[in-house]
Amino acid sequence: MSKSILIDLMKLRTIMAEDPSLELPEALYYPTPNQNGLKTIRELAVFRFTCRKCEDAPCIAACPADALEKDSEGIINRHTNLCVSCKSCVTICPFGTMMTDFFSHHRNKDLFYDLDSTEEMEKFAAACPPGTVTITDSRESPGENIFRLNNKVLVKDLLYKTD
Ligand code: SF4
Ligand code: SF4
Repeated sequence: MSKSILIDLMKLRTIMAEDPSLELPEALYYPTPNQNGLKTIRELAVFRFTCRKCEDAPCIAACPADALEKDSEGIINRHTNLCVSCKSCVTICPFGTMMTDFFSHHRNKDLFYDLDSTEEMEKFAAACPPGTVTITDSRESPGENIFRLNNKVLVKDLLYKTD
C-alpha cells in the first residue's frame, strides 16, 4: 500500500484549544472524494470517528439551512453548498465534536495540499504543528487508537462506539 498520512486529532484539539486563532493547513483531495464541495479531511474524520451519532442529532435540528443530514451509516454529512457558517450546530452539540474552523468560508488556498501527490503530502505534514501529522507505512491499529479513514489517511483519536 502507498504511504498514508497519520493525523493525531487528539493533539490537534489540544493545540487549537490553546490557540483558537491558529489557521491549520488542510489536506484535501482534488476533487474531494464525495464530490460535495470543499471539505477537509479533519471534518470527514471527526464525523466518522468522534461524533456520538446521536439518535435525535440536535445538530441537524439546530441547522437553519438544512445543511446537515445522516448518511446510510448514521454518519453526519455537511452539505457545504447549503451551510451558512452560523455554527449553531457547534454550539448545540453536547460533545464538542466539531472544530469551528470547519465552517469558515475564508479559506486560504495557499494552505491546501493535494493528498494525491506524495510531494504535497510531505509538504502538508511539514506545515502542520509539530507531532500532529506524520507520513507512515503503518496500518490501522485500534489498540493504539489509529483508524483508517480512506486509502490516504489514518486518524488517531478516541473512537466512540455504540456497542
Ligand atoms: S454552521 Fe452550517 S451546518 Fe452548522 S448549523 Fe450553521 S448552517 Fe448548519
Ligand atoms: S450533536 Fe454532536 S455528537 Fe450528536 S450527532 Fe451531532 S455532531 Fe454528532
